[in-house]
Amino acid sequence: MGAPTTPATTGTPPRPIPGVHPASRALTRPRRRLVAAAAALVALAAVGAGSLLDLRTPAPKSADAPAGAFSAGRAYEDVQVIAARSHVAGSPANEEVRAHLEQQLRGLGLETEVQDTVAPEAGQLSGAAGGATVARVRNVVARLPGTDSTGRVFLVSHYDSVQTGPGGNDDAAGTSTILEVARALTTGPRPRNDIVFVLTDAEEACLCGAAAFAASHPLAADGGVVLNLEARGSTGPVIMFETSRNNAKLVDIFGRAAPHPVGTSFAVEIYRALPNDTDFTAFLDQKFVGLNSAYIDGGAIYHTPLDTPAAMDRGSLQQHGDNALGLAREFGGTDLTELRSGHDATYFPVPGGLVRYPGWLTVPLALLAVALVGTLGWLTRRSGRASTGRLAAGFALALVPIVAAPVAAQLLWLAITTIRPGYAELLDPYRPIWYRLAVLALATAILFTWYALTRRRIGPAALAVGGLAWLALLGVLLAVAVPGGAYLTTVPALAGALGGLVALRTRQTGPWPVVAVTAAAAVGVVILLPTVVLLFPALGMAMGGVAALVAVLLGLVALPVVDLLHPQAGGQRGLLALRARRLAVLPAGAAAVAAVVLAGVGLGVDRFDAAHPAPTHLMYAMDAGTGQARWLSHESDPQPWTDGYVDGVTDVGDDFPGLGDGELRTGPAQSANLPAPKLEVLADATAGGERTLRLRLTPQRAARLATLHVDTSTATVLRAEVAGRSVPVEPRAGKWGFGLVFHAPPAEGIEVTLTVRPIAGQVALRAMDASDGLDALPGFRPRPPAVGVVGSHSSEMLAVARTYPI
Ligand SMILES: [Zn+2]
Repeated sequence: MGAPTTPATTGTPPRPIPGVHPASRALTRPRRRLVAAAAALVALAAVGAGSLLDLRTPAPKSADAPAGAFSAGRAYEDVQVIAARSHVAGSPANEEVRAHLEQQLRGLGLETEVQDTVAPEAGQLSGAAGGATVARVRNVVARLPGTDSTGRVFLVSHYDSVQTGPGGNDDAAGTSTILEVARALTTGPRPRNDIVFVLTDAEEACLCGAAAFAASHPLAADGGVVLNLEARGSTGPVIMFETSRNNAKLVDIFGRAAPHPVGTSFAVEIYRALPNDTDFTAFLDQKFVGLNSAYIDGGAIYHTPLDTPAAMDRGSLQQHGDNALGLAREFGGTDLTELRSGHDATYFPVPGGLVRYPGWLTVPLALLAVALVGTLGWLTRRSGRASTGRLAAGFALALVPIVAAPVAAQLLWLAITTIRPGYAELLDPYRPIWYRLAVLALATAILFTWYALTRRRIGPAALAVGGLAWLALLGVLLAVAVPGGAYLTTVPALAGALGGLVALRTRQTGPWPVVAVTAAAAVGVVILLPTVVLLFPALGMAMGGVAALVAVLLGLVALPVVDLLHPQAGGQRGLLALRARRLAVLPAGAAAVAAVVLAGVGLGVDRFDAAHPAPTHLMYAMDAGTGQARWLSHESDPQPWTDGYVDGVTDVGDDFPGLGDGELRTGPAQSANLPAPKLEVLADATAGGERTLRLRLTPQRAARLATLHVDTSTATVLRAEVAGRSVPVEPRAGKWGFGLVFHAPPAEGIEVTLTVRPIAGQVALRAMDASDGLDALPGFRPRPPAVGVVGSHSSEMLAVARTYPI
């Protein structure tokens, strides 16, 4: 497809490339060529800028915005109250947050109540390492009754934070958004459908609050539409990244009713590959339908002490609110009985809206792209622009940048993390922009170098067709394996093939060939450029290779336009051609230099300091029976600060089954004067070879969680009940073959009933509880300013355990 506009000679001695069509003489004149190239580039740059501007967050509205509008200024006042300090589930701080939420919702005149219950985790998710997981949760639930309800709309966010940070974004963003949306909705006419505001507890621990609501709250009994609001970072566009199955109608409403609809069916596939989970999972388990949205850039602060209200980008908050309010109004007025459709939609953002088409078109479109690219190749050969051999070579060689760019990006990151090992514990660097640009420059350098080396021998037409062929084939592969992502390569391949066909069939002296290939490249830019930009925060620099891959695919779609710039393409001869060949290497060299410089600037600018500390992970665990204590760390290659505590590796599974198993860094610690949780026997009865133990496990200090494990070489656990609710008895690996994890244990303790078949005399039980904060421990030295805390659920955990033979 590049050929019509790019006749070429092979330099000295002048020898035409066999098969290059002589008709395209118009653009052999350098000046015309330059004008065409400039026009094409300006057009592509404008399209690219439009695509990126479309991803910008809206300007935050001030606190005096009209009553019916969402105001980030008003919502932010709640953010400051909610995220004044860390408020993990079960803590007094969380109690204060809950009181504030109740007060705000009641103040709006809404029926408000607290669902106070003990609930298991959704599915069997994150907490499963320690055993069956439950939590005491208190969800704040308020209802705005509809006038003629056809179903319920649920706005959901979690109000608890992690123990290591105040949750300024995660999830004060979602919670404050819901309060402000509730306020805006109560100022207008009542909606047709019930709107239920669900502020869940213990999301961070186990999604237990959402699981409790979805499974057992009366308002949830008939299902409905769930809009879950989250934040996994501090800035960037709000992305609708997850839906229930058969989402076509939901996505259609999202595209129509959200004022800033950024979402792609590809995100769902990406999200499944990530280790994150949200409350939305708990609702999907219960067959609700719905949409899940979050902003995700600025991930360095995720779950850390730096996730403060001040860290929040209020533009992101405004976008959360604009979309949530728009969707609440739309779903509030829609007939909710007709929301399920028979299929999933493919969708992606374009300037001004959301493109969507039925998922059943994915495979036909992918096959059509292959057919069209095949046709283009055949016509290219017939027109004499490339021989079969060159087409085959172009296809084979196009794989080189597709493989080389991601590999090079990963190697670049390996080099950067070798220089700065602290990056290993971060989701993304604090100032990732330099590294992102370095990856893009690297991908560009590889593409340009590859093109400069292959163009003369293979010819631009064969390379362009070869590149499109890979996009088309990837489209088929994706359509089968990752259908929501197939559009990424199928649509650009379709556009490229059509552009090429038009370029081949139109008069070569006119502007149409250039217009056709530029328009095709523009389609590639609209689809792939936002993808590159969103992939960086979604996956972090550690997977920057994925963005590099997409960037190279974009480059391959734009090859014919790139070719307009190629100095050799002008058909110079002799010395001129020699000079042209040297010139051709220039952009590649410039991009390579840019990659190195940008990476260097990143290392220079993104240094660890008090405001951007190097994260470290440390825990303390003590056996109250023996008095033995140790420091523990999850860091695989400990930072210098952590190195002061750990000097070896251990498996804690035998001593602290509540911490899960697996190898940790460890070092000796001084014993602290801390009590283990008390385990009392309330009843003990044996009948028919089964022993039933009714036990009470009571932490003797303010604990975030308590665990109880059974040594299954002393007894086989047959049944288990926690706080009157039976929990699954699933065998764990290792000595402690049965385990329970209880988050946010009440001060009066937890009642556990175990039915076991004894194996040898007494049953060995191991009780553990864990609190947060290491400051008061003997031998703990506070971190220097540039050393921070890793955002993880076990950072700063202080565990005390004891074995009880019963
Ligand atoms: Zn979180």
